[in-house]
Amino acid sequence: MSEQKKKYHLETLAVHAGQEVPESDTKARNVPVYRTTAYNFDNSQHGADLFALKVPGNIYARLMNPTNDVLEKRLAALEGGVAALTVSSGTAAIYFTITNIAKAGDEIVAANNLYGGTFTQFDAILPQQNITVRFTNVNDFAAVEAAISEKTRLVYIETVGNPALGIADIKKYAEIAHKHELPLVVDSTFTPPTLLRPIEHGADIVIHSLSKWIGGHGAGIGGAVIDAGTFNWKNPKFALYNEPDRGYHGLRFAHDLPLNLAFILRLRTVGLRNQGPTLAPDAAWIFLQGVESLPLRVAKHSSNALKVAEFLAKHPKVAWVKYPTLSEPELAKQYLPDGAGGMVVFGVKGGSAEARKLVDSVPLFSILANVGDAKSLIIHPASTTHSQVSDEEQRKAGLQPELIRLSIGLEHEDDIIAALEEGLAQI
Ligand SMILES: *Cc1c(COP(=O)(O)O)cnc(C)c1O
Repeated sequence: MSEQKKKYHLETLAVHAGQEVPESDTKARNVPVYRTTAYNFDNSQHGADLFALKVPGNIYARLMNPTNDVLEKRLAALEGGVAALTVSSGTAAIYFTITNIAKAGDEIVAANNLYGGTFTQFDAILPQQNITVRFTNVNDFAAVEAAISEKTRLVYIETVGNPALGIADIKKYAEIAHKHELPLVVDSTFTPPTLLRPIEHGADIVIHSLSKWIGGHGAGIGGAVIDAGTFNWKNPKFALYNEPDRGYHGLRFAHDLPLNLAFILRLRTVGLRNQGPTLAPDAAWIFLQGVESLPLRVAKHSSNALKVAEFLAKHPKVAWVKYPTLSEPELAKQYLPDGAGGMVVFGVKGGSAEARKLVDSVPLFSILANVGDAKSLIIHPASTTHSQVSDEEQRKAGLQPELIRLSIGLEHEDDIIAALEEGLAQI
């Protein structure tokens, strides 16, 4: 991208970044979907040069696709990173990021207020591969310090935790991680880049589930990893970057490639090329349509959600409400000055039974396990998304039995509030 483009505002980048126009042959204005498995070589020498990484170019669509490439460049521009990689889901983005840094015998330190699927991956799957995860309460920095050891390879947080919506103090996490020469990995799914850009606060790697607000219409599954390009992978404790890679002719990623691209290039070659979590170009195209309206949509999600939170806070049948701007105003001012996103959680008086009754009584809202749709969504996490998490772990992560999670959509705010009022009248 040219220097001039870099100075564009986020709204402009959301529409233009990453695409060269006119599209070389067809002059198609919108990004085409490249439905191909492989790409022609000009001749056998060109093929040999591509395989030897002597010339840039497309080889095979498991590891590169021009549609995905535009999305990757656009997301990198929006987050302020040097490069990005798209993968088949947010879950894959997390798993392949962790295993692009840590190997058997290593440890990671993570906040405990994570997306349910991430918690299970960290708690049940990574240990099977001998990667140990040390969980700590969010923003308990003494506990983070205590959990870091010689074996730690990264610190992992979510910007706004799920489901209790606690705001991570990213700057403090970055300070501690960097003091110990560790990268800070941040899942920013709940806070798309027009609300919060973790790299500006010191994060090294940013992860998104594209399935949520970035896609924005509940129309597909995808994930992305964005690299700030600032971390020093030459530190010998990162064996995956400093020891010769048997799968790549003895390449040493931190030494034989540009250091600021080592992480993403390893993720593409070892992750995509040899483990295969490729994002289909059709899905990448859907996410590109979403990104173009992301700034507008996220502003509306945020203002609707704030109004819902204020309504619920005054309702006599509601025991408590959490919305980042209301529950943690200081951190919200620092990290979310332009709005706090579309999630609202609250507890009804009367516990789990009343909570489930309310879920069944609210019109307009869809009962389902997703967030970030244009449509308003409702769920009772304790009996669904977090039911694999033990009662004790649920309590530690701030998940009470009466908690209801709302993902506020783009409908008119009066209709959303009227639907909640109608549901609450029935419990
Ligand atoms: C949905 C979600 C994920 C997982 O993403 P998928 O695309 O569903 O695999 C990870 N983190 C957060 C915060 C999410 O909301």
